[in-house]
Amino acid sequence: MSARLDAGYREAALRTLASTEFDVLVVGGGVVGVGAALDAASRGLSVALVEARDWASGTSSRSSKLVHGGLRYLEQLEFSLVREALRERGLLLKRLAPHLVKPVPFLYPLTHKGWERPYVGAGLMLYDTIGGATSVPMHKHLSRTKALAMSPGLRPDALTGAVRYYDGQVDDARFTMMVARTAAQHGATVVNRAEVTELLRDGVDVVGAVVRDALSGEEIRVRARRVIGATGVWTEANPGFRVQMSKGVHLVVARERIELDTGLIMRTEKSVLFVIPWGQHWIIGTTDTPYSDAPDRPSVTDEDVEYLLQHVNKVLRDPLTVDDIVGTYAGLRPLLAGKNSETAKLSREHAVASPAPGYFVVAGGKYTTYRVMAADVVNAAVRGLGGVAPSLTARLPIHGAVGYRELWDDRIAFASRNGLSVSTVERLLGRYGSAVSELVELIRQDPALAQPVTGAEGYLAVEIVHAVTHEGALDLDDVLSRRTRIAFEYPSRGLACLEHVADLVGARLGWDVSTRHDAIEAYRAGGVMLTA
Ligand SMILES: Cc1cc2nc3c(=O)[nH]c(=O)nc-3n(C[C@H](O)[C@H](O)[C@H](O)COP(=O)(O)OP(=O)(O)OC[C@H]3O[C@@H](n4cnc5c(N)ncnc54)[C@H](O)[C@@H]3O)c2cc1C
Repeated sequence: MSARLDAGYREAALRTLASTEFDVLVVGGGVVGVGAALDAASRGLSVALVEARDWASGTSSRSSKLVHGGLRYLEQLEFSLVREALRERGLLLKRLAPHLVKPVPFLYPLTHKGWERPYVGAGLMLYDTIGGATSVPMHKHLSRTKALAMSPGLRPDALTGAVRYYDGQVDDARFTMMVARTAAQHGATVVNRAEVTELLRDGVDVVGAVVRDALSGEEIRVRARRVIGATGVWTEANPGFRVQMSKGVHLVVARERIELDTGLIMRTEKSVLFVIPWGQHWIIGTTDTPYSDAPDRPSVTDEDVEYLLQHVNKVLRDPLTVDDIVGTYAGLRPLLAGKNSETAKLSREHAVASPAPGYFVVAGGKYTTYRVMAADVVNAAVRGLGGVAPSLTARLPIHGAVGYRELWDDRIAFASRNGLSVSTVERLLGRYGSAVSELVELIRQDPALAQPVTGAEGYLAVEIVHAVTHEGALDLDDVLSRRTRIAFEYPSRGLACLEHVADLVGARLGWDVSTRHDAIEAYRAGGVMLTA
């Protein structure tokens, strides 16, 4: 089946929603919901997946973008959580998504002589081995001189030595969208801008949901034998668990502002702070503060910025100021509520509950463990349906993985065959894998699409068009915030490229002059358009 999520696909999918009784309806298009849809569809079940806004528009586009076990969870003695996450890291890096998940090095600066090196070294030895076969290079001890040579941007008095270790990294929003595409490829009917407004019941049993198409305002009664809620921080309290929100903020600065060869992890009084390499930028984060406002648009406050700058500047030779910040973003962790009032200490475990017959909810966990969460909730949901295969997703490559390694090995010839530079092909392979062929076909049809985006020259015009023709983007925010990351990689949320991007998107979505104008104004105002 096609993994091409264009406007035609969406129209047909809405009709299918109205006319089918599904085995499973999944509510929520974050990484856990798309994972559940893929899990269920690949077991041969008929599946619908609806997302109220855009794929990954909730927490799944706002994380630290690490596929990791979490060193600090090791210190909190959460061995089973760390082991499970590291196993998933290995699977993603090696088998499921080698095109999207990459190893990334971090420097752990030591600040105490004596006890700290053996303590950190033992922890990292465990971290490197606990998840089974190593999928990234082993950690390495570094003298102070060696560490400073690798990181001239650090203050010489900020460390007594260091240890370098590796973790995994992913573009969280793109990965989630790619899993949604993979689910569609396996036969799931996937629709964004489609919000569940009410569950359908037959007595006490949940038998489907009312879905509102945000583009037309139309309501569709979707019937399903099982409904799975994967709505992250939007999950309502139920007898099984309650979700507590914790806000985390990241700053983005230009790569040249910090002279480092690796990422950086530092202890803070409450948690840890990362400086993470991100293309031509660094991502610095994060904070961890309880949050109780509406979850739709968490904002970055002056205090958040001050906290992050203050902590990172403790180790930088050339301190950052607010003028160095290119972009920011805030996300909300869906933590399982516990007795501890400090959100940094709440467990990152996940839970599955069944608040009513036919209805199953999953929440908590981490991005890294989405596949396990998805399998767990589908296992719970299909119990009683009879004859359903066990989860297959540990062996199921994400769209673009098959053929990726061969294309990577052939990238120089591929670049010259298609009139692209090798560095462009390398960048595209790291975002699309073998699905780069979809972009090449678009360029073949319109060679002008091989040109950079005016005002966001790190991207090609074809990436904007492909976001609409293959990746389900429906407005400028989808394209600038999640299919590309222009919204935080370029100053003023990428306003400089708005005209060009609106031309490219509008031409594919059939915008007239006034719709184009409204789309630009909606993005300028920080909002999302096209809702009825
Ligand atoms: C600051 C921060 C940093 C993090 N860093 C990492 C990290 O580095 N590594 C890691 O492994 N994890 C990390 N996490 C955790 C990870 O990001 C989350 O656990 C994960 O993204 C949650 O995914 P989800 O699918 O449960 O929720 P979400 O991504 O929020 O998805 C829920 C979706 O449900 C939709 N929805 C809600 N109500 C409805 C409805 N009625 N109808 C239809 N759709 C609906 C929403 O629009 C939303 O898209 C981080 C989290 C934060 C906040």
